[in-house]
Amino acid sequence: MLEEMGLTPVWRLRERAPADGGGEASEAPAASEGARITIHESRVTGSSDRRSEIMSLDWGPLKARVASCTDCPLHAKRNQTVFGIGDENADWLFVGEGPGADEDAQGEPFVGQAGKLLDNMLAAIQLKRGQDVYIANLIKCRPPGNRNPEPHEALQCEPYLHRQIELIRPKLILALGKVAAANLLASDASVASMRGRIHQYRGIPLIVTYHPAYLLRSLADKAKAWADLCFAVRFMKDLQGGKAAPTS
Ligand code: URA
Repeated sequence: MLEEMGLTPVWRLRERAPADGGGEASEAPAASEGARITIHESRVTGSSDRRSEIMSLDWGPLKARVASCTDCPLHAKRNQTVFGIGDENADWLFVGEGPGADEDAQGEPFVGQAGKLLDNMLAAIQLKRGQDVYIANLIKCRPPGNRNPEPHEALQCEPYLHRQIELIRPKLILALGKVAAANLLASDASVASMRGRIHQYRGIPLIVTYHPAYLLRSLADKAKAWADLCFAVRFMKDLQGGKAAPTS
């Protein structure tokens, strides 16, 4: 499996990652990781009524609300919304950016090449899509041409992910790539500088790592993503043992 990922001999599953695993804060920001979109708590949606309405929905109505959403221009060109998939009581939540062409066609997140890599990354830490894992995106409709979501599009979609997170109540969120991390953390920092630490999204621990699509193009950073996964596994083990790492 690691061979298939092109990760051997760099990636090796260890009981504990090295002391500096995931801490390469001096790493240069990845140029191809896309623009920042910052959501500040105070201007999270255009309408607090809309947010309250979404935050009151249970899974079924929430899925229906997303499926019929026309609240931003992205609805016009989508084939279908991509809500998210997996174990609705998962401890692990992986958050990507938004659907690409394959996801827009199939209605499921991370089903293209990047999804294959994500599945292999999950398998490398003994996780499986749908088993204690939920996979979602920041935005639920495909931006035309796979461009980054515009700030107002991300703003309109954010309550959906917020509600999903409230319903799942994961123990750990993995933010995949710059756009997911920037939005969830309201930060302009690079992925490189956000890695290797425990952040918080509304009180839930969050780890930042590279987006699988970026890793397909930047093989050198796969080793860093592996360090991030080891860091996440270690955090979860510590959490279970009652000694989780301090958060920032
Ligand atoms: N990239 C993402 O961020 N999400 C997907 O679902 C697919 C590709």
